[in-house]
Amino acid sequence: MDSPLDAKLASVLGGRTASAFERGLGLTTVGDLLSHYPRRYAKRGELTALTELPLDTNVTIVAEVVKAVSRSMQARRGSILEVTISDGTGILTLTFFNQKWRENELKPGVRGIFAGKVGAYRGNRQLAHPDYELFDEDADPAAVQKWAELPIPIYPATSTVASWQIQKAVAIVLDSLGELEDPIPQGLRTERKLVSFRRALDLVHRPTKDSDWGVARATLRFQEAFVLQAALLRQRERLRETAATSREPGDLLATFDAELPFELTGDQRAVGEEVSKDLAAEVPMNRLIQGEVGSGKTLVALRAMLAVAESGGQSALLAPTEVLAHQHLRSIVRTLGPDRAAALRPTILTGQLTAAERRKALLAIVSGSARIVVGTHALLGDAVTFFDLGLVVVDEQHRFGVEQREALRVKAERPPHVLVLTATPIPRTVAMTVFGDLDVSTIRELPAGRQPITSHVVPLAERPGWMGRVWERLSEELEKGHQGFVVCPAIDSTHSEPADAEPDALEGAASGRAATVTETLAALRADPLFAGRRIEVLHGRLSSDDKDSLMRAFAAGDIDVLVSTTVIEVGVDVPNASAMVVLDADRFGVSQLHQLRGRVGRGSVPGLCLLVTGAEEGSVARERVEAVASTLDGFELAGKDLELRQEGDVLGSTQSGGRSSLRLVRVTRDGDLIAEARELAAGVLAADPRLDQHPALRDALDRRLDAEAEAYLAKN
Ligand code: ADP
Ligand code: MG
Repeated sequence: MDSPLDAKLASVLGGRTASAFERGLGLTTVGDLLSHYPRRYAKRGELTALTELPLDTNVTIVAEVVKAVSRSMQARRGSILEVTISDGTGILTLTFFNQKWRENELKPGVRGIFAGKVGAYRGNRQLAHPDYELFDEDADPAAVQKWAELPIPIYPATSTVASWQIQKAVAIVLDSLGELEDPIPQGLRTERKLVSFRRALDLVHRPTKDSDWGVARATLRFQEAFVLQAALLRQRERLRETAATSREPGDLLATFDAELPFELTGDQRAVGEEVSKDLAAEVPMNRLIQGEVGSGKTLVALRAMLAVAESGGQSALLAPTEVLAHQHLRSIVRTLGPDRAAALRPTILTGQLTAAERRKALLAIVSGSARIVVGTHALLGDAVTFFDLGLVVVDEQHRFGVEQREALRVKAERPPHVLVLTATPIPRTVAMTVFGDLDVSTIRELPAGRQPITSHVVPLAERPGWMGRVWERLSEELEKGHQGFVVCPAIDSTHSEPADAEPDALEGAASGRAATVTETLAALRADPLFAGRRIEVLHGRLSSDDKDSLMRAFAAGDIDVLVSTTVIEVGVDVPNASAMVVLDADRFGVSQLHQLRGRVGRGSVPGLCLLVTGAEEGSVARERVEAVASTLDGFELAGKDLELRQEGDVLGSTQSGGRSSLRLVRVTRDGDLIAEARELAAGVLAADPRLDQHPALRDALDRRLDAEAEAYLAKN
């Protein structure tokens, strides 16, 4: 069924306008435009604070023309038209060069809406060449009065497409739009006192009073949550439709467990049992394991791999970076011990292999002799074929989108079991939103004997002198025979670490230059405190070989201090590293700092983490850093992180794959709504799994999937 929402904008607005909207706002269909909701609604009164217009911002003003004067310019040829507008309280000047004809339109007494960027000329605020839309002069006073009370939608606009242009286009689209099928079943709509989809669109874009858009947004917000949850639940069911191969654990796992040099923690045991049960079923497992850094997730995954290997099945472990892939391989080989390693042939496949190495690896994979395969994105390539892929383990989910999981999944004849590991604790509502198609297990307990990490904020804003003490503390750790990390936000003054940048974390971060790896290295090498110490750098612009050999040297204790960017963020395991200094810590997100901190105190050595920041006391940036220092509990921090992110789009683009299309729902605020919507969607799907009774909902889900697929294609 074709929905009018899928119509191209060009067919309604004409090619020129449509391409401006596509370029400026990324909107291509009627549905796109109609879900470009107003950011807020202004009232005429609210718009008239002409005297307080902030410089250099785009503003939209409703006012009346007071006078218009055209004169010749003195310094150069041409004319200038100066139009004074007012709302009765303030006045503002509009200027137009060589557009004398506008005098005929902008006559005193005419009212309109004006949009432009506020500039200053000789100390007075003005708009140069604003866009404007004038209101009908002949309107009768009652109509004018009504107009004066209309909420004015203010759209997210750009310098090329102004808010009023969007408003106008939306009006054209709405005028030509017929009835729309409602994705929310009638019963639910009545029960929740929601208006129809069509009416909600009208009211959100063309409200006649404030309560209109309130009702509209409530309806659209519920619809968004409901459609998302229905999509995730249906996806979950789909994943379970095709039978997987059941994998029963046997001797391999039993002897491995018996030879382990330590006891599994209670949580490892419990989650391990959940996983075994999933693996033994013919329904494919799709499980997320979340647990602190060092809580032993990888070990749980390795035990699952052994269960799969028992019947000759293969497991693929997907790591986000080369460094981590190599580290996983080494630690798997070590943990398996020589006999098991010889039998299971753990094999690595990354983009950095030589042609010969690659051929050998591919052969081991396709023949099935490599029963454990570790790799990066290279594993997703078309050339990689498995003999019997039984289990996919995705380490550190936040770097992998839904689509990558999908790409590996299709490599098996029957769907493989999938285990996703993440050290970023995920608040319940985020889990429901991003990972709503997965079952979730949690490891809260850390293995016994872990030494605590002490964290301190070093507030340079108040205590500039403390920097010296930071380096002393680091050198004291080295004296004790330990090693340390110094983390900087940037490589050098021209390169930040793009792959690791977390843009929304930067909110409120101190402005000015960030500490760089290059300068920090030079400073430390020149510092007598560190005379004779081996100090090296690690960052994303080094080749993988270099990164890997540096990490190896650091792990072997041949390097004392590693000055790095966040490339050491995830999973790096060096038990002798005891100290971490994070420079400009306010430039990192809460979760990122927590992850970084997890690099120290991984062995029997107590950890020390010094978070250096120039952020002022009381600023959001400073609060982030203090939150991290105040607790080691990743779940608590994940909650704080949510609170501190003002816009609240915690999903990010990579994390959410194509699912970042939430417009009105905020995971920070709408937890209850999301949970309710999930339950209601589950009810609808349970009664009507194929949605035969709910074609409009089915269409909405398909539209979502298409959008996801498009987003995926666009990214690759
Ligand atoms: P994660 O993947 O959750 O960060 P790992 O599985 O890599 O954690 O485990 C971190 C370290 O702790 C590894 O060296 C691992 O061998 C060790 N380890 C795992 N489980 C235990 C346990 N129950 N007792 C002691 N050490 C453990
Ligand atoms: Mg790990």
